[in-house]
Amino acid sequence: MRRITRAVNVGGVIIGGNAPISVQSMTNVLAADFEGTVRQLKALEAAGCSIARIAVPDTDSARVFTYAKEQGVTVPLVADIHFDYKIALEAVRCGASKIRINPGNIGEAWKVREVADACKAEGLPIRIGVNGGSLEKSLLEKYGSPTAEAIAESALTQAEALENVGFSDIVISIKSSDVNKMIAACEAVAAASDYPIHLGVTEAGDAYSGLVKNAAGMGALLTRGIGDTLRVSLTADPVEEIRAGREILKAVGRWEHGGVNIISCPTCGRTKVGIIDLVAELKAAVENIDTKGKSINVAVMGCVVNGPGEAREADFGIAGGDGFGVLFRRGVPEGRVEENMIVPTLLENIKEFIEKD
Ligand code: SF4
Repeated sequence: MRRITRAVNVGGVIIGGNAPISVQSMTNVLAADFEGTVRQLKALEAAGCSIARIAVPDTDSARVFTYAKEQGVTVPLVADIHFDYKIALEAVRCGASKIRINPGNIGEAWKVREVADACKAEGLPIRIGVNGGSLEKSLLEKYGSPTAEAIAESALTQAEALENVGFSDIVISIKSSDVNKMIAACEAVAAASDYPIHLGVTEAGDAYSGLVKNAAGMGALLTRGIGDTLRVSLTADPVEEIRAGREILKAVGRWEHGGVNIISCPTCGRTKVGIIDLVAELKAAVENIDTKGKSINVAVMGCVVNGPGEAREADFGIAGGDGFGVLFRRGVPEGRVEENMIVPTLLENIKEFIEKD
C-alpha cells in the first residue's frame, strides 16, 4: 500500500497523492553555461526525466531558467539554492517550477518567509532538503551526532517553520550516504507527516555502486509504500540517473509508464547460444521504445530444457538451442528461429504486442 501523501504540483508534474513516482536528475555543468545546461536538459528529457534540477550559485545564473524555456525545454525545472535567499527569489522570477532549499542555511526567518511568499504567489512548491552535514547545532547537541532521528527532526522542524508562515506545498528529502540511516530517517518523516518524500542515497558512487546503494535504500522504502519521487545520485552522466531510477521502479513494480521488461537467465553449462550478447542487443533496441503504456515481459533464456518453464510468466520469449532459438509464448513452444534471427524475431513480436488491442 502506498503511503497517503499530500500532492504538490511541479510545473504540471504531480509529486505525491496517487501520482506515478517521478524520476528526477540534475545537470552537472555550471548553470552560467546556459547552452551546456540546455544540452543536458534536452538529453535528460529524451531519456524520460520527469523533473530536472539545476544548482544555482548566484543571481545571474538564475536566468538559465528563462533561457531554457526560450530554447524549448519543457521538463519542469527546480532551482537548487544554498545560503542566499535572493538567488531563490530570482529563480522564482525567472521561471523555476520548484525551489529546493535547506531553510537552516538560508538564515533569518524573514528571509525564509520571503522565499515562501514568492513561491506561494507563483504556485511553486518548496523542497526541504536535509542531510547529515547540514544539521542545526542544537540538534547535534541533543542527539550527539547526525542520527536518523536528528535528521528527521530537522526536516520536520523546517517544514513547520514554512507552515507557520502559511506555506504548505512542501516536499521533504532526507539524504544520507548511509543507506540504513536514510531508510530510518525517511521512515520517521513518513510516520510523522503526510509530506511527499523525495528519495535518494547521496554520494553513492559511480554508476554501478551508486545504483546498488540506491536500489537497496529506495527499494526498502518503496516496497513499504514510502517515496513519491526519486533521484539516483551517480558519479556519471545524469542520463544514467534516469535509467537507474526507472530500473529501480520497475524492479519494485512501481513503474507506471509501461515498457519492455527483459527476463533473462544467468546462463549455465547448458547454454549453447550467445545469450549475454543477445540480451545486450535486445536491451539497446528496446530501451526507448514507445510501448503506448503497455508493459511487456520478454524472456531470453539459455536452454530449451528449463527456459520456457522458468519464464512461463513472460508474454513470450526465446529459449536457446544449439545455434537456434525456440520461440515460446506463455511457456508454450511455437517453433524454431535461427540464432541470427532471434533479436529481429523478438522485436517483431514486441511490435505486434504493442499494436494489438
Ligand atoms: S534457463 Fe537453462 S541455460 Fe539458463 S540458467 Fe536455466 S538451465 Fe541454465
